[in-house]
Amino acid sequence: MSTWIKLNSKALYLMKGGTNQFIEKVDLVPKVDRPGATNATPIAGKFSLNIPARWFKRSDPPGQMAINLKDTSEPSAFKPPVVTTIITAATPTTSNKIKAPSGEMFEFIDSKNAGTSNPTLADFQPNEVLNDGTLLPRYYFKVNNFKDFSKQLTANFQLLEFISDTEISNGIQFPYYIPVAIIRLADSMQKLRGKFKEPIRVSSGYRSPFYPDYQNNPSYKSAHRFGTAIDFVSVGDRVIDRQEDLDFVDDVVFDGNFLGGGNRPSGNSSLGFEFTESAAEMGFVIHHSHLDMGYITQDKELVHVKDFL
Ligand SMILES: [Zn+2]
Repeated sequence: MSTWIKLNSKALYLMKGGTNQFIEKVDLVPKVDRPGATNATPIAGKFSLNIPARWFKRSDPPGQMAINLKDTSEPSAFKPPVVTTIITAATPTTSNKIKAPSGEMFEFIDSKNAGTSNPTLADFQPNEVLNDGTLLPRYYFKVNNFKDFSKQLTANFQLLEFISDTEISNGIQFPYYIPVAIIRLADSMQKLRGKFKEPIRVSSGYRSPFYPDYQNNPSYKSAHRFGTAIDFVSVGDRVIDRQEDLDFVDDVVFDGNFLGGGNRPSGNSSLGFEFTESAAEMGFVIHHSHLDMGYITQDKELVHVKDFL
């Protein structure tokens, strides 16, 4: 994707290259230093404007800017095109189920086929563009009611454990949709439990657009939005609240080849993990280990979970 910036009398737009469609916009706010001004224009400092710094941190930062202060028309919002990449993994065309390692089956949803006819799924913002241009996941499975959350994904992990505690305590609406990557994450967590030979207490996994931080910042990029990230607070009797606890976890997760928290990748992991947060990234208040498998999305999702289709 390439981008450019457009300024007209209404707003500043981050535009999709080669189109008149915007990815994000910032409305012009009339300055209040001239009380009663109703027909202010961006000229002569009568408007204030904050250009989002994240636009320039994208992999495709805008290279050009077009200014037309007489233009009062609103460009249309950019909708990402259907991804037409040929998928080499087994595709779910013959089956509409995904099977967890426990044997539990869940209804598999391709959001591109479900389309706009499913407003509840649309609330989960499948394929929406995040701040650096990465798209949110395409493939989900469906949870019909709270009882479904009690299903086992693996011998020792329930689906409930992979949903954000915050969202659960705020109340969940059904149906609820979860990226299919959660199934592989659960499988790796079961294998990690086997390596520790101790129970792992999980505090957060998938965070949907209903998660409070994303209500405030809808295009924020976090692996928790992709179903590839997990937070856990203890291993057996060991509560994770010191640097040595992070070291203990990272040594096992990255098979003794740990390259340091905060690096992506943080090391090679036979369990498929790619990244762990450092104490610095937690503001030096250690209260959990974060592990994730990266920003798996679109055509990569089916490859990622191919063992479970
Ligand atoms: Zn986390």
